[in-house]
Amino acid sequence: MKLLLVYPPFCPPSMPPYSISYLKSFLIDNLEINVKCFDLNAKFHQLKFPEYYQQIRLKKYNNDIKQYGTILAHFENASRSVYAENNRKIINKQLPEFYQEILKLILTEKPNIVAFSFVYNSQCFYASPLLQELKKCNIPCIVGGPATITKFKEEYTYLKNEVEFLNHLTKIYKITAKYKQENYFCHNTPDFQDYRKSDYLSKELIIPLKTSSTCFYKQCTFCTHYSPVPYYEFSLEEIKSTIQKSKARHVFFIDDMISKKRLEYLAEILKPLNINWLCQLRPTVDIISLLPTLKASGLHAVLWGVESANQRILNLIKKGTNIEDITKILQVSQNNNIKNILFIMFGFPTETKEEIMNTFQFLKDNGQNIDLICTSIFGLQKQSYIYNNLHEFSITNIHKQPRTVLEEKITYTISQGVSQEEAKKIRKRHTHIINKINKVPKVFDYLKEQIFFFHQCVSLVVHIH
Ligand code: SF4
Repeated sequence: MKLLLVYPPFCPPSMPPYSISYLKSFLIDNLEINVKCFDLNAKFHQLKFPEYYQQIRLKKYNNDIKQYGTILAHFENASRSVYAENNRKIINKQLPEFYQEILKLILTEKPNIVAFSFVYNSQCFYASPLLQELKKCNIPCIVGGPATITKFKEEYTYLKNEVEFLNHLTKIYKITAKYKQENYFCHNTPDFQDYRKSDYLSKELIIPLKTSSTCFYKQCTFCTHYSPVPYYEFSLEEIKSTIQKSKARHVFFIDDMISKKRLEYLAEILKPLNINWLCQLRPTVDIISLLPTLKASGLHAVLWGVESANQRILNLIKKGTNIEDITKILQVSQNNNIKNILFIMFGFPTETKEEIMNTFQFLKDNGQNIDLICTSIFGLQKQSYIYNNLHEFSITNIHKQPRTVLEEKITYTISQGVSQEEAKKIRKRHTHIINKINKVPKVFDYLKEQIFFFHQCVSLVVHIH
């Protein structure tokens, strides 16, 4: 019995996927089954954009952040229109580019079952004709992951998690389980062996890892990132052995959040490995004293969930942070030569223009301690606290607009503060402030993990002609 775990196009091709790598290790630990991971997203990019793959491997370009950034910026520019054009084709029932080649890659493996992992909405387009074709070939398909659309859940077997997956395989396909359910082997050792380094648009191999099951904080009112599962921490020894086995020198801890205690333990196991790592954190005061230790263990950059520099908005988000502490954290982090990447959100419900300008002022005042600013416009997400408590946030009406492939688009009317459109306009009018502060090319907002490769950053703006 052969199971193929696939990761469909389109999303950034910087590093192998975490989802299917973890699922593979869980399934082979517990079942008598042959499992292979296939990163179709990376394969598509390699077929479509060979020139960028060649360029970033040339020493004459990739030792210089400006030149490297320019290659990536050209790639980003070219890829966005390729994604849009292919998605349009799929909506119009035409086949996307390299469809036959990608399908052949799957069929050559002669799988008995194919499982698709959806982490980004943008992966649902290309997967659509592939799923239909596999169905025609009588190959059973399983779908799963946070971005799985309702249409796929209805048409194919949708499984919520690895345990449901395992039970499905034993029940429907009579695959022998190695243990009884209460004794399932629940180790967290993602298997990256099926990927080729050359399939990734990156100077060196980066691997994504998780240290816990979900965010332990789970309180931000806009957020739907965390999974509705209990918080538990993965074994530090397993994290260590996964890194050693992968031979990667760069590790992106993709947890939405890591606690202080956990960071302390991580620093201890990572220090002797002599690697670079990066993580995402809430800028809380308790982290400050730990920053030198984290740097000594290889912490290269932190993606800080700053969101806003207006205290009323931070309180409404229930971020549990304050501006004074955020200022100190950025300063200490910069003093320790850790790169600071900031997530900033504009247009949170009830936010006024003046409050948005407070954030721009904060960015200007702290510009010397900021390496990159990643901005977004607030979007209302089903299942978020705000969605379930609209009146608390002055949202008077929500509008749902059906879409061809993706789930319905949600917009809203608000009785206070700027609209999403106004927030976008204000951001556009002030882009020059952000560009002036950024010390790494803007494209690293799209391919954040690539910041690993550069220690010296300079103030610059990359132009695409
Ligand atoms: S925004 Fe981050 S810290 Fe806040 S609840 Fe979501 S995952 Fe957790």
